[in-house]
Amino acid sequence: MQRHDVVVVGAGLAGQRAALAAITAGCDVAILTKLHPLRSHSGAAQGGINAAVGKEDSVETHTYDTVKGSDYLGDQDAIEFFCKAAGPTVVEMEHFGTIFSRSEDGSLARRPFGGAGFPRTIYAADRTGLALLQALFEHLGTQPYTLYEEWDLIEVVVRDGRVQGIVAFDRKSGEFAEIAAKAVVLATGPAGRIYGRTTNAHSCTGDGIAAAYRVGSLLKDMEFVQFHPTALLDSGILITEGARGEGGILKNAAGEQFMAKYAPHVLDLASRDVVSRAIVTEIQQGRGFPGGYVHLELMHLGKEKIESRLQEICDFGRNFAGVDPVTQPIPVTPAQHYMMGGIGTNQRGETNILGLYSAGEAACVSIHGANRLGGNSLLETLVFGRQSGEAAAAYVATAPTPVLAETDLDHAVAPIRSMSARSDGEDPLQLRKEMQATMDTLVGIYRTAGDLAEALRQIRALKERFQRVRVADVSQHFNINLTDALETGNMLELAEVIIVGAIARTESRGAHARLDYPKRDDAAWLKHTLAGRGADGPTLSYAPVTITRFEPKERVY
Ligand SMILES: Cc1cc2nc3c(=O)[nH]c(=O)nc-3n(C[C@H](O)[C@H](O)[C@H](O)COP(=O)(O)OP(=O)(O)OC[C@H]3O[C@@H](n4cnc5c(N)ncnc54)[C@H](O)[C@@H]3O)c2cc1C
Repeated sequence: MQRHDVVVVGAGLAGQRAALAAITAGCDVAILTKLHPLRSHSGAAQGGINAAVGKEDSVETHTYDTVKGSDYLGDQDAIEFFCKAAGPTVVEMEHFGTIFSRSEDGSLARRPFGGAGFPRTIYAADRTGLALLQALFEHLGTQPYTLYEEWDLIEVVVRDGRVQGIVAFDRKSGEFAEIAAKAVVLATGPAGRIYGRTTNAHSCTGDGIAAAYRVGSLLKDMEFVQFHPTALLDSGILITEGARGEGGILKNAAGEQFMAKYAPHVLDLASRDVVSRAIVTEIQQGRGFPGGYVHLELMHLGKEKIESRLQEICDFGRNFAGVDPVTQPIPVTPAQHYMMGGIGTNQRGETNILGLYSAGEAACVSIHGANRLGGNSLLETLVFGRQSGEAAAAYVATAPTPVLAETDLDHAVAPIRSMSARSDGEDPLQLRKEMQATMDTLVGIYRTAGDLAEALRQIRALKERFQRVRVADVSQHFNINLTDALETGNMLELAEVIIVGAIARTESRGAHARLDYPKRDDAAWLKHTLAGRGADGPTLSYAPVTITRFEPKERVY
């Protein structure tokens, strides 16, 4: 059996930064990842990373913007820490070799982003995530660690109140194995594929969040799902907020810049929840284009700017929508983009289970509260990735030797073996499609008690059917049918948590917009939702929000 001090699950920016911190602290570290590290979803990030650098901007304004963006649900102590760490984090990434775009005078170029009072989003054209990921991976390559590549986490093993290791699956050989670890850092990234219309990669299935939930972790604020206003019609491919940051304008079918009605001060650069609701409202009230979309216009920015600052957007428009953004408007509608919720942690990445840590999109600290600002999430992966790696290393120094039993493996693997042994049963892909349709139609941007109750009924029926799921492919190597089934099971679990939290929260805040409760209700709901796994589904409890300097007030853009 393999043994390590720290096993980091996930090789995106959060996982790599956590691993680097734990290695630097002297631990024996392994990274386990179902994808090649450079294929992690972090590499798809386009628009940029926020940091208040330069004289005109300040950590204080970044902090305020993030608190306001969160609709006051973010914990202000964590947000202050996060914004302070931003400058040094970006400089460190530059020293690791990230090639950021520059302004004329050679300083770091910055672009305006939604909900930000100042242009503070630092970028590498429209490929910021890939630039960061490559630089960090190269730096990590100079360090000693073990890489389990194309391995899936199956379960975290917790006994005697603490983590003992994990059970994992090697996609290449089809073998299951136990890996003992004193500490486990879950950095498994997004869960956006719970929805059909999403900007997230196919691998974003929330596996780590579901694994943590199964062993007793409390999931925080899962009902807050971010929809990005501008995803390409049909494919759902993201058109970065940087496109509006560079001056792009949204227009309805009547040619009106409709954001003037919804956010008179900042127009197209209001925060994402506000812009997404505006687009849906325009379409629902008959001012969209036939088929239900609006236009994002870049043409007035000129060929040179568009092709140098937004190269990928040009390619996406040309290749996936048949439009040339230099001369034609881009057809867009909102799509699921980010989960504000996740495994509940504190600022050190610690969960409610001893030895279990989490960071990145899988975690919820919470700094994004009810709505994340663009550019804050790349920063989150690095700041809290490092925090969790350091905290895990500190814990490992005194933690007892982990003990895994053969029964741990059997316990985790038995249900999977029975999926393959069935001669008849449910097709995992069919269940996944039905789940996505439910979430797209009933748990979207606008929510009602009736829709949510129906969604819960449908998801519970799918969970029931999942008990009889069948893996028809019996091959040993790269059995995608098997990993699809595991991912679908994970997502069904999380879909239920999202819906139960959304039903309970009878107010509208940030990305959670209830048509039947249109107002924010601080008296009753200025609190975090915590979901634990009960025998009959999620059991909810609540935790206070930390307010330090900014008293909640109405959010206007
Ligand atoms: C299209 C797009 C554009 C974005 N643009 C921006 C932007 O411009 N600015 C910004 O701040 N944010 C942006 N975001 C959000 C941001 O990129 C993500 O929140 C962040 O990169 C997530 O990083 P992560 O390290 O948590 O997860 P990821 O980078 O997704 O990494 C997850 C890792 O976990 C591994 N993994 C998952 N499940 C398992 C399992 N069962 N077993 C083993 N390994 C597993 C995967 O292999 C992967 O290595 C964007 C997101 C998308 C989808």
